[in-house]
Amino acid sequence: MDCLFCKIINRDIPADIVYEDEDVLAFNDINPQAPTHVLLVPKQHVATLNDLEEDNLPLVGRLSFAAAKLAKEYGFAEDGYRVVLNCNEKGGQTVYHIHMHLMGGRRFTWPAG
Ligand code: C5P
Repeated sequence: MDCLFCKIINRDIPADIVYEDEDVLAFNDINPQAPTHVLLVPKQHVATLNDLEEDNLPLVGRLSFAAAKLAKEYGFAEDGYRVVLNCNEKGGQTVYHIHMHLMGGRRFTWPAG
């Protein structure tokens, strides 16, 4: 499959991997927008949030759980952090394999741009 994140999951292209479990892989974003900027991806290919189905709903919980675990490990869980899941072109999605951005280490503003 011609999917960048599937290639990272399959180790066909390199990434700076920071976490892995049965369902989730996490790696540092190559263009970080915060002191810590990690992408969490499900190992199962799902293109966008719109493509989630009953069978793969738990994947989003797995991503969230892993993000919170990493936030605690990085030491910014108590201060606060941001998770983002962009969907489709106007939502800012550029890679069509669901991924959760975990950003921490600075203050974030709202509304997001
Ligand atoms: O949410 P969106 O689809 O825009 O996020 C894709 C993210 O993937 C970007 O933040 C980009 O920097 C990151 N990326 C990466 N490694 C690649 C290609 C893209 O970390 N090889």
